[in-house]
Amino acid sequence: MSGLPWTVAIVLAVWLLAGLVLEAVLAWRQWRHLARVEPGREPAATHCRRIRYGQRRALFQWLASAETVLRVAVWLGGGLSLLARAVTPDGWLSGVVFVALFAAVDQLLGQPLRWGRWWAVERAFGTSRLDAAGMARDRLASGGLAVLLATLAAAWALWPFGLMPAAVAWPLCGLLAIAAALAYFWARPNLIAPLFNRFTSLPAGALRQRLAAMMDRSGAHLSDVRIMDGSRRSTLANAYFAGVGRSKRIVLLDTLMEQLPPAEIEAVLAHELGHFRCGHLQRYYGLLFGLILAAVSLLPALLSAAGMEAAPVVMAAALFVLLPALAWPLRPLLSALKRRYEYEADAFAARHAEPAALVSALRRLLAHNLNAPTMDRWYAAFHATHPPGDERLSRLRCYM
Ligand SMILES: [Zn+2]
Repeated sequence: MSGLPWTVAIVLAVWLLAGLVLEAVLAWRQWRHLARVEPGREPAATHCRRIRYGQRRALFQWLASAETVLRVAVWLGGGLSLLARAVTPDGWLSGVVFVALFAAVDQLLGQPLRWGRWWAVERAFGTSRLDAAGMARDRLASGGLAVLLATLAAAWALWPFGLMPAAVAWPLCGLLAIAAALAYFWARPNLIAPLFNRFTSLPAGALRQRLAAMMDRSGAHLSDVRIMDGSRRSTLANAYFAGVGRSKRIVLLDTLMEQLPPAEIEAVLAHELGHFRCGHLQRYYGLLFGLILAAVSLLPALLSAAGMEAAPVVMAAALFVLLPALAWPLRPLLSALKRRYEYEADAFAARHAEPAALVSALRRLLAHNLNAPTMDRWYAAFHATHPPGDERLSRLRCYM
């Protein structure tokens, strides 16, 4: 791989460093904002713990952006050239081997931060139930799986190169990668999540009947509501909606079931159904895939024109590390979209369950999950995928 011309490298470096400085300012604002939050009716020690947890998370948010930039520096500053010299990825098979090695090293590069977050945030605040051995097993399993999936995706998406001109091969490669992502969305709840957690059906009884009645009322005929043993790894209580096609399902963590009474579980399920009925996954990933396809179709030609010469698979690896680092100005847009989805799902839940139950569930979950009730305005604009607790609660009270 021939290196980037100095002018392009300098523009890239300025862009990335500007993002890093902005992230530092945002983390500092959030840190300062949290330090000034007045304790409500909760005991001072509980309040302090929530504040320190939020501050520690803001710090790790910044460290995550620093890590993204560091990986760009490692790979584009010589790592990719070194690997390309060792493997010579000029054919399909050597390209796949190159991706497997690249993914394995990239996984290793991500380990210090992941371990740091576990040590200084999850373990320190007691939200992780894993000990070091359990964490090591998890990291090994998820890292190995990521390398395997990256290798399979490369084998599937790289074949157009060599058979057609680059101007056609790149968009086609992007489309194939999107098809692979869709297959992953299908496989995740069916094949992958059961490797890490146990999923069971809701036992027959009053709660199951209540939830089925609410699903009928809301017109969301989703056959599967599963309970996941999230308590094996974490104390955090949550619920999520996942899957595509017939693998669509709502998953409630056992920690959530333990924390909330039936009316509140119904309200949380109604919120998740709101995501399903409003098509949030399709809308969000439709936009994301559109952006990625545009970047994959345009950027390789731009980088070639700027003097970067490399085999397509090396270019693809460079894009893989570059795109998330370059895309920081898009963060507020994507976060705002996610917060809008949360409000839409809340409105749906307020129509089909008791709004008061959703309010009390939310209040309980915010406290249980150590979320501070407010966030700094600018930090929230960039990083809040859910609206700050107090804003969300006050909007929900309009439905009561
Ligand atoms: Zn939600």
